[in-house]
Amino acid sequence: MPTKSDRRKHRVYRKSAKETRLVVKSGKATTMECALCKDMLHGVPHGKKTNALKKLSKTQRRPSVPFAGILCGNCREMVAIETIKVVTNQKKMPQVELRIQPYVKQLQASVN
Ligand SMILES: [Zn+2]
Repeated sequence: MPTKSDRRKHRVYRKSAKETRLVVKSGKATTMECALCKDMLHGVPHGKKTNALKKLSKTQRRPSVPFAGILCGNCREMVAIETIKVVTNQKKMPQVELRIQPYVKQLQASVN
């Protein structure tokens, strides 16, 4: 017989070609990580239940800076410096590292 804690857990059936298996979800949000260096993001909630995350205000969910909740502080600074170099014609877009280019283009559009 399942224990009382097992009865409360959220269960989902996942279908595949081979089998249908039962997946038990923990209900807690995972730690948010930087899109470039996979480092842990600061200023964002982690370890809270997904239901509790929805009840937080906008400013409690992420800091109010460009690429907040996406990039960490170091990567954000690197992207900003590269954007300034592109805007001031010290560097051309093809010379910028390929994985940073989408962020540079996005920041460049907001600057102009
Ligand atoms: Zn990073």
